[in-house]
Amino acid sequence: MAKVLILSGAGISAESGISTFRDSGGLWDEYDVSVVCNYDSMQKHEDLTIEFYDKRRAELQTKEPNYAHKIVAGLKKRYGDDIAVITQNVDNLFEKAGLKSEDVIHLHGFMTQLRCQDSYCEKIFDVGYASQRELNGGKCPACGSKLRPNIVFFGEEAPMYEELNRHIQDCELFVVIGTSGNVIGVNTMAQFASRSILNNYEPSSAINDAYFSKVLYKKATEAVDEIAQEIESFLS
Ligand code: NAD
Ligand code: ZN
Repeated sequence: MAKVLILSGAGISAESGISTFRDSGGLWDEYDVSVVCNYDSMQKHEDLTIEFYDKRRAELQTKEPNYAHKIVAGLKKRYGDDIAVITQNVDNLFEKAGLKSEDVIHLHGFMTQLRCQDSYCEKIFDVGYASQRELNGGKCPACGSKLRPNIVFFGEEAPMYEELNRHIQDCELFVVIGTSGNVIGVNTMAQFASRSILNNYEPSSAINDAYFSKVLYKKATEAVDEIAQEIESFLS
C-alpha cells in the first residue's frame, strides 16, 4: 500500500489552460454546468450533454501537461507503489506526462472514454478525441445500446472512491494539489495521515488548512518542487 497519496483536482490542470469550475471561462460559461454534469438532466438534455463533452474532449487534444504534472509523473515513475496518484480530473494530462493508465486513479471518470449505458453491459471504449457519434454512431459496438461519456455526473455513484478510501487509511503523507474540497472532503482525510501538505492557489471555504502540516498558497507549478522535496526525503 502506498505511503504517499497525491490527490489532485482541477487546479493542477489550470495552468495547462483547462478551466476549473470556479474561475470558469470558455466552455464552462457557454453551458449550465448543473445541467450538463447532472445525471437526471442528462436524460432530458441528452444532445446538449453529448455536445458539451464532445467539445471538451476535442479541446483536450491541444492541451499539454504542465510542470506540476511532469514532476508528479516523475515521482510516480521513480517510487512506484510507494506513491498513489489519485485525481478528480477527467483530463489525460498525467498520462500525457508519461504515466500509464494503471498508474493514475481517476475518481470521476476519463474524458477520452465512452461507456455503454446498458447496466448489464457497461463496456468501456477508448474514443480518443473524437465525438461520441464517431464511435459506431454513438451506439455500443458490443450490444447496440446508447453510449455515454465515461464521466461521473452529479448524483451518480463514484465507484473509485473505494480506492481513495483504501489508500487514505494507509498513507502516511497526504498531499493535496488544486482542489477546493467542495466535492471531496479533504479535512477529514488530512487527519488520517501523520503528515499532510495542502497546495491551492488560494484558501477555500471548504478546507480548514489548520488540519495540514504544510500549506502552500501558490500556483501548482511554483509549489511542486517543494512538494517533491518533501516526498523524496519522506521516502528515502
Ligand atoms: P474546483 O474548481 O472546485 O477548485 C479548484 C481549486 O484549484 C481551487 O481551490 C483553486 O484555488 C485551485 N487552483 C486554481 N488554480 C490553481 C493553480 N494554478 N495551482 C494550484 N491550485 C490552483 O476543482 P475541484 O476541487 O477539482 O472540483 C471540481 C470538480 O470538477 C471535480 O469533480 C473535477 O472532476 C471536475 N473538473 C475537472 C477538470 C479537469 O479534468 N481538468 C476541470 C474542471 C472541473
Ligand atoms: Zn453495450
